[in-house]
Amino acid sequence: MTSDRQIHLLNNSLKGCSCIRCGALLTVGDYFEGCPSCLSAGRPSSVKSEYSALPSTIAKPGARGMARYADWLPYSSWVSLGEGATPCVSVPALAAETSSARVLVKNEGQNPSGSHKDRASCLTVTRALDAGARRIVAASSGNAGASLALYAAAAGLECTIVVTAAPPPILRRAITQAGADLVEVEDSFQRWDMVAKMAREEGCFPATNYLNPPVGSNHFGVEGLTSIAYELAEQAGDGVDAILVPTSRGDLVWAIFEGFRRLKAAGHIKRIPKLFVVEPFPRLSMVLDGADQTGSFPGATALFSIAGSTVTYQSVEAVQQSGGGAVVVDDAAVIRDAKRFAQHGFHLELSAAATLTGLEALRCNGAIAADETVVLIATSHGYKDLPTPIAAQ
Ligand SMILES: [Zn+2]
Repeated sequence: MTSDRQIHLLNNSLKGCSCIRCGALLTVGDYFEGCPSCLSAGRPSSVKSEYSALPSTIAKPGARGMARYADWLPYSSWVSLGEGATPCVSVPALAAETSSARVLVKNEGQNPSGSHKDRASCLTVTRALDAGARRIVAASSGNAGASLALYAAAAGLECTIVVTAAPPPILRRAITQAGADLVEVEDSFQRWDMVAKMAREEGCFPATNYLNPPVGSNHFGVEGLTSIAYELAEQAGDGVDAILVPTSRGDLVWAIFEGFRRLKAAGHIKRIPKLFVVEPFPRLSMVLDGADQTGSFPGATALFSIAGSTVTYQSVEAVQQSGGGAVVVDDAAVIRDAKRFAQHGFHLELSAAATLTGLEALRCNGAIAADETVVLIATSHGYKDLPTPIAAQ
């Protein structure tokens, strides 16, 4: 295990936090349980960073990877394993097959641990070091756990990852090989109970939610995910109409929205793309149709990275503010589309392949028009997804 005890400084422009629901202004802090007043009102809501000024350029000249966007992020440096700078590949064959003007695949599987989670983990462990923590703890369906375990090891932090039976063996091995403790419990709610206990009673630094109804993950980490928006603005310019995001509790879709919102506020782009959540059974779809966001929406799926029976406020906000929506995909269709993706050169985890299934549905119902440019966020590499009986079909 290597240790990185280098001092990492907060961004000079970081002036505080604000609640994404009620707008309350707060001092810089972790707010593991989100906005205090929304929590006491029974509507847990995440907070986000507030900056005194937004950067005058999208990227830092000469910097590489996620460090190109350091001026937009809460820390000016962080514990890095080379995250970011993932390819954004135009796939004309997929555009033709889906009758779309242009389809771009943002291949987040190219990150160090093979998923977009690394953009969050680098800032989460940096924050934990700055807060003086010795151990971080997270509830994970697999990818976040593998990513955090590796970044915690690089940071010299102890790490506990709490899982259900869902993560495949290859992700469990990634977690334990990095030296993290892997604890298995029965369901998502027990995961959150264990993380809550370790955070509240043992002083561990929680990287993910532990409330029910849930909030987003540690907001310093979620800020790291905004880098996908800045990177896309460099790679695809102002021409993106719609973005499809595999979603469970919405850290990623929220962060991409917030990144584009800041880019527009700073005058770097003219419009925010429509954000569409892809989900394996109706959750956000039901909330957008009028169900209470704090309710329970159970369902079963082979798409372990986007399972879960809850909806966060941040997901609702991202799709409504961007003019997007939610699309439900069927496991069997996603398994078919994972093969289709591979036959165009992309070996993706099922949850990532679900973006193509979602695009077909959104083209059919007209939510995405034939002349639009679409980005599919391929969240995770196919090597994460060892065949299960259903996935092997
Ligand atoms: Zn609030």
